Amino acid sequence: MPMEDLAVPTPTGLCCPAGGFYIDPVRPVDKALITHAHSDHAQPGHGAVLATRETLDLMRLRCGEGCAGTMQAVGYGETVDVNGVTVTFRPAGHVLGSAQICIERNGRRVVASGDYKNVADPTCAPFEPIACDLFITEATFGLPVFRHGDPTGEIAKLLQSVALFPERAHLVGVYALGKAQRVVALLRAAGYTRPIYLHGALAGLTRYYVARGIDLGDLRLARDAAKSELAGAIVLCPPSAVKELWSRRFPDPVTSFASGWMRVRARARQRQIDLPLVISDHADWDGLTATIAATAASEVWVTHGEEDALVHWCQQRGLKARPLRIVGYGDEEEGAEPQDGEVTA
Ligand SMILES: [Zn+2]
Ligand SMILES: [Zn+2]
Repeated sequence: MPMEDLAVPTPTGLCCPAGGFYIDPVRPVDKALITHAHSDHAQPGHGAVLATRETLDLMRLRCGEGCAGTMQAVGYGETVDVNGVTVTFRPAGHVLGSAQICIERNGRRVVASGDYKNVADPTCAPFEPIACDLFITEATFGLPVFRHGDPTGEIAKLLQSVALFPERAHLVGVYALGKAQRVVALLRAAGYTRPIYLHGALAGLTRYYVARGIDLGDLRLARDAAKSELAGAIVLCPPSAVKELWSRRFPDPVTSFASGWMRVRARARQRQIDLPLVISDHADWDGLTATIAATAASEVWVTHGEEDALVHWCQQRGLKARPLRIVGYGDEEEGAEPQDGEVTA
C-alpha cells in the first residue's frame, strides 16, 4: 500500500485518506483525531473528535461543551479501528493528556507526534519513542542553539531570587495550559511549600490538573490576597500580564518568564524580564534529533517551527525528509515566539 493512503499533508492539516480522518486539523472537519488541547491543535467545530479523556476535558474547559459534535475518549495504548486503520494514542510528554498518534495498516506505521518533549514532567505521562516508517515531528526549537538544560536549575534560580528579595513579589509569566502547572510542580519538587498565587486566567485549567490527581500544594488566587501577603510570594500569571496594569498591585515585583524562548537573551531583554527561566514543554534540538533517531523512521515530515534545519539534519543522515509548512500551528502558547500584547488565557 502506498504511504499516501495513510498520510497526506493538506492545507487543512494532516489527512489519513484510508481512515477518513484528519490529525489536528486547522479547520472544522467531519472526523478529527486530536493530539492535545493547545488551541492551535484543538480547534472547535469538528463533527467527531477522538482524543484522550484529558484532551477532551481540556477542550471543553477552553471552548465549551458544544465544541464538537461527538467526542470519543481513548486511553494511552488502547487500540481503535477507524475504517480499517489501526489507531493508538501514546504519551507525548508535552502537557496533560498529550499524545502521539500512531496509525497502521498493512504493516506500515506512521506516527504523528503533535508537540512533545522527551524530558521528565511530573504533570504528564512520559514521552515514549515509537518505531515507525514515517515520523511526523514538530520543530518549534529545531535549531542547534536551542538546548534547554535542566529545569530544576532554573527553578533554583527563582528560589534564590525569592530568598534574596524577601520583600518583593516574583511574577512569573507562564502559559495557561501545561507550563503553569509544571512550574508549580517543579517548585514543589524543589521543596517549596509556601502558598503559590495564581492569576485568575490560570485557575480553571490548574483546578483540572488537581482534579486529575496532580498534587500542586497550596494554591491561592492572587486577587484574594492582601498586598502584604504577596511580599516575597511567587505569583504565576499569563506572560502578557507581567507588564500590564494587573502587575502594579504587587510589591516591587521581580518579573520572570518561563519559556524555551528565554534561551534567546535579546528576547528576555526586549520583554524587560528580570529573571528569564529556560523551561520548555517542547523538545530542544538534542531532543528532536535523538527522538528521530529512536523511531528508526526512514522518512520524516516536519510540521511546524524551524523546519529547514531539522529537514537538513535528516537528509544528511540519508533519511527522506520534507517540511509541511502547515499554516496555523504554533499560533499560541509556547509554539509561537511570544510577541508583545499576545493573548494567552
Ligand atoms: Zn502544544
Ligand atoms: Zn503546537
